[in-house]
Amino acid sequence: MSRAKNFSIITKEHHFFKTKHLLQFIWSIEITLFLVILQRLYLEKYTTALIIFSVFLTLLGVAFLAKKNKVEQSAILLLVIMTGLISYFMWCYSGIYDEAVIAYPCVLIMTAMLGNKKLFISLFVFISLSILLNGAVNSYGIYTNEISQSQLSGAILIIFIFSLISYTIAIMAKDFRKILAQLDSENKTVKQSKSEIEILLRHDILTSLPNRLMANDYFQSSISQSSRDDNKIHIMFIDLDDFKLMNDALGHQAGDSLLIEIADRLKKTVRKEDLVCRFAGDEFIIILDSFAKPELVANIAKKIISAVQEPFYYQGHQFICGCSIGISVTPDDSLDFNTLVRNADTAMYHSKSVGGNSFHYFNDEMNTYGHEYLSLITDLRKAIKDEQFFLVYQPKIDLKENKIIGAEALIRWNHPEKGVIFPDFFIEKAEKAGLICDIGEWVLNEVCRVCKEWIDCGAKDFVIAVNISSKQFAKGNLAEVIKSVLEDNDLRGKHLELEMTESLLIDNSEELKNTFKYIRKLGVLFSVDDFGTGYSNLGYLKEFDISTLKIDRSFIYDIPNKTKNQALVKAIIQMAKGLELNTVAEGIEDLATANMLIDFECDSAQGYFWSKPIVKREFVKLVEEFNNESEKLAIS
Ligand code: C2E
Ligand code: CA
Ligand code: CA
Repeated sequence: MSRAKNFSIITKEHHFFKTKHLLQFIWSIEITLFLVILQRLYLEKYTTALIIFSVFLTLLGVAFLAKKNKVEQSAILLLVIMTGLISYFMWCYSGIYDEAVIAYPCVLIMTAMLGNKKLFISLFVFISLSILLNGAVNSYGIYTNEISQSQLSGAILIIFIFSLISYTIAIMAKDFRKILAQLDSENKTVKQSKSEIEILLRHDILTSLPNRLMANDYFQSSISQSSRDDNKIHIMFIDLDDFKLMNDALGHQAGDSLLIEIADRLKKTVRKEDLVCRFAGDEFIIILDSFAKPELVANIAKKIISAVQEPFYYQGHQFICGCSIGISVTPDDSLDFNTLVRNADTAMYHSKSVGGNSFHYFNDEMNTYGHEYLSLITDLRKAIKDEQFFLVYQPKIDLKENKIIGAEALIRWNHPEKGVIFPDFFIEKAEKAGLICDIGEWVLNEVCRVCKEWIDCGAKDFVIAVNISSKQFAKGNLAEVIKSVLEDNDLRGKHLELEMTESLLIDNSEELKNTFKYIRKLGVLFSVDDFGTGYSNLGYLKEFDISTLKIDRSFIYDIPNKTKNQALVKAIIQMAKGLELNTVAEGIEDLATANMLIDFECDSAQGYFWSKPIVKREFVKLVEEFNNESEKLAIS
């Protein structure tokens, strides 16, 4: 397609120049002929003047044809007429010594420029034969040309013809120069694109930072230098914390802008001699060239962490992004670039595992940690396939009625070798490995199945809460998943509650709001988990249709002895009432705390005081006993 287009552009251009040159030649020939006519009239050679005049008129016709876009035909006509006219002069006047003969080369040049190969050869053969024949017939006395005696008129004619030839050559030379200039500029463009491609191959397109290819080259040249100077090279592996989350929630453009911004900040943090490279996705590598002192490297790592943590603004939203750093160093950790990068990567995982926003030097023990991590992920995949999970339920107590009104479902992993594993150990890793959605779907399905059973047994207002990871929202299909688990288990939405953290609600993207609205329409309830630990800006409470705040257990813990926490929890409960939200206090372990929350008019509560999370069978028993007991208490 584009080749065809290019071709048509070229032929159009060629056609335009041909027409232009043809007209230029016609007008220059017309001027020459006009001057020759004047000369012939002056010399009283009326017959030749008349013949030339008729050619003059014919050429006007040819010019007209050319203007009408009949370029090929008019060019052939012009060249044939000109050859004919010159030959006429040669044969009728001074033969091969006639001045007109010097116009033959001019016709041939014009033919080369305007005509085609066939015409050029034909005219060349015709001219050659004509000259040869004329010479021959004159030599053998068959026909004799009279040689003109008038030197001056011949000289004038030659000047006219020379002018015409010069003009033709000038046009040709101009074309030639133009083509040369074009070639030169094309050559430059090609060279420039070649070097651009070379740069592109060694740079990341988005951030313009060197890529891993260039990083490798840079490392090789640094290492040969450092072995001479006895210096060390440090490799820093930097991975952004929660980048994928932001990218999924706000779109790739936001993610791209953040990466560009981070690239810029990283460059500003290190010296010119050091190389910042984008390794992949949200991973960067910095090669710190020939640093003797490890303290300096630690300082740089700290600077990087705080530079990355500076707020980032996108379309009026503010984001704060953390990073985890791993460092490896030559020659201690290896002299091979790939091994050093791998080791720095392992050290980076270590930083991530302690919550991010930190840096760690690589050490051999970490390799074991790395292996542990990998084997955990492998086990988790198997666990999903073999359904090695089970749920435990922790009751939620209505503090006014002293009744169990629902439960929070909490996951446990029954590992075939290691026994029961708690969620704190594997949820975050499952999130990082992209496995949480599968696990979350299993939980939702199981909860709905169990809840339906209980409702059918008479617990008609029962609500089970499920913890939802932000990654489940980010995946974009949560609404459909919920709709289908409700349908599959024939459960009404009002019996299901989704617990999520504040950090998720801080993102007020349209996508999240729409998912939220859709799920709300199904009757499903939302509660904010660990309330108070996340953000001070509570604007999201108005944006989302939330029903409950779960006050974090760090505020509840030992509250009877902590006046500040008392004030805070009181304030949260008051605010929730103002916003018509329910409150649940988490982590109540003793009667004094429970009583204090009843005093504060907290709606409901959860905690070891009533029950630890227990398996389904035990839970059913507990509900029966507890609710019967409290009814008895209420009656008495
Ligand atoms: P969470 O949502 O804050 O859950 C409450 C945690 O506090 C539970 O730990 C529960 O056993 C514990 N807890 C309850 N009452 C008390 C108390 O009186 N005192 C103390 N000290 N602790 C109490 P668990 O079951 O180990 O869960 C830990 C976290 O794991 C949960 O925190 C939740 O964030 C996450 N999680 C649990 N199940 C799931 C799940 O199915 N999906 C997802 N995405 N996360 C889950
Ligand atoms: Ca929870
Ligand atoms: Ca909680």
